[in-house]
Amino acid sequence: MLYEISEKAIQLENQGKKIIKFNLGDPDLPTPPEIVEAAYQAIKQGKTKYSSAAGEKALREELANIHGVSKDNVVVTTGSKWAIYSLFSLLLKKGDNIVVPSPHWTSYELAAKQVGVEFRVLKRDIESDWKIDVEKFDQLIDKNTRLVLLNSPNNPTSKVIDDKTFTELVKIANDKGAKVLSDEVYADISFVKPKRILEFGTDNMLVDGFSKSFLMTGWRIGYAVVEKELAKKMVKLNQITTTCVPAFIQYGALKGLEDRKRIADNIRTTFKVRADAAYSVLSNTKMKFSKPDAPFYLFPKVDGLDSERFALDLLDSGVAVAPGTAFGDYREYFRIALTRPEDEIKEGLEKLCEALP
Ligand code: PMP
Repeated sequence: MLYEISEKAIQLENQGKKIIKFNLGDPDLPTPPEIVEAAYQAIKQGKTKYSSAAGEKALREELANIHGVSKDNVVVTTGSKWAIYSLFSLLLKKGDNIVVPSPHWTSYELAAKQVGVEFRVLKRDIESDWKIDVEKFDQLIDKNTRLVLLNSPNNPTSKVIDDKTFTELVKIANDKGAKVLSDEVYADISFVKPKRILEFGTDNMLVDGFSKSFLMTGWRIGYAVVEKELAKKMVKLNQITTTCVPAFIQYGALKGLEDRKRIADNIRTTFKVRADAAYSVLSNTKMKFSKPDAPFYLFPKVDGLDSERFALDLLDSGVAVAPGTAFGDYREYFRIALTRPEDEIKEGLEKLCEALP
């Protein structure tokens, strides 16, 4: 359905219609110029050849330094998406299951299907402010649970898992023999400080990237921090699939790391203004939603709504959103990505409110 909405939005644009696109988690802000410049310089210096399947040494060392691990724990990947898929395919076999608090990013479920394992969701809802029921989580994990996937801040709710719950989830999973894969792609730009998986050592796994916190979605660079033997297996998989992330892109990313606090602060500041503006427009409606802990997304609920129908019809009013069904069993919800400038956000949300059934 997400694909259908994107396609229809493009068709309408081709017919000359203006569509305010709240359907994509792809920020409108440009990649910081110093990153672009560093990549350009790297191209000019000939960093245009095959490179290490593990990632450039300098980048791995800098990431290792930031995370307090060895560079042998770090593998650079073609986006964090590929890191997630690699880990699924290396760690899971038929008969295994993976446990994920829902709503969840669409790709997790598709990747689990692709590797042929059961995808078990722990349902949460807005009425309990997206809290995770730790007892229910415990009950979902059995001897075939190989992985638990945590995503804090979460796409699509923008909620952070509180420290106590995060710690409990890691402990329960590990005590039962499951590893935690923590997708922290929104952590560096979060409004609320999230707990980090590496605080528990490298027996569990971190996946992170440059797409969101460095505005580099199209560059396709991410990474994993995992125990060393698993890192070697990931490198091998890179060798037989993607070969490497282009070296010049890695030098762009490396430059970004030098300035990471400033870049993250800028993104946070811009998106806080947007989130506040959106919050004030939506507060006067019948939608149920909770204040975002992080930039990018709002995930409101309208009781009785068929969000697939709503998202399709809303395109005729010139606004694109993602229906809640793309993120699990959430038909009455839809996701608004605040990845447009503030004036478009206000205009788009007003149109959206008018179109509500
Ligand atoms: N994890 C989450 C939760 C995401 O929302 C996304 C992108 N939408 C990704 C990972 C993938 O990001 P990347 O561009 O690094 O592959």
